[in-house]
Amino acid sequence: MTANRPSFDLIFMNLATDLAKRSHCVKAHVGAVLTKDTRIISIGYNGPPAGTHNCDEEWPETGCPRDDRNSCSLALHAEANAILYAVKNLTDLTGATLYLTLSPCLACAKLIFSSGISRVFFKNSYAEFKGWPGDEGVDFLNRFGVPTTKFLIED
Ligand SMILES: [Zn+2]
Ligand SMILES: [Zn+2]
Repeated sequence: MTANRPSFDLIFMNLATDLAKRSHCVKAHVGAVLTKDTRIISIGYNGPPAGTHNCDEEWPETGCPRDDRNSCSLALHAEANAILYAVKNLTDLTGATLYLTLSPCLACAKLIFSSGISRVFFKNSYAEFKGWPGDEGVDFLNRFGVPTTKFLIED
């Protein structure tokens, strides 16, 4: 029954979706999965560096301190966490594929580009989430040769 056999793309995007639920952030919950040759090489979700703050527990009423773009000022984004873990463990990211529940911001797009990741799938648009006119991270990656596309759930 091939109909019940999920693609790796779907499996990895579902895992990213589950990982997002682990985020302690007050607003956005984002998950990331890094793969190479259909094997998982790193994972991440958004939040302050491990061992520092848990925003939802420390500031349950007010939410955590915001930066000038109204994002958590303490958090690393999911893809940054996934990339840093891989780099820390000396994993070569050249040719890797990244699955994200939210499209990358511009800062993360630059990290993704520089790390050698060669393809990005995202589920939801960061620009839509923020109410911004364009997805600048997605535009950056597509412009400089890292295909970055919205993930279409297959049947
Ligand atoms: Zn936070
Ligand atoms: Zn980011």
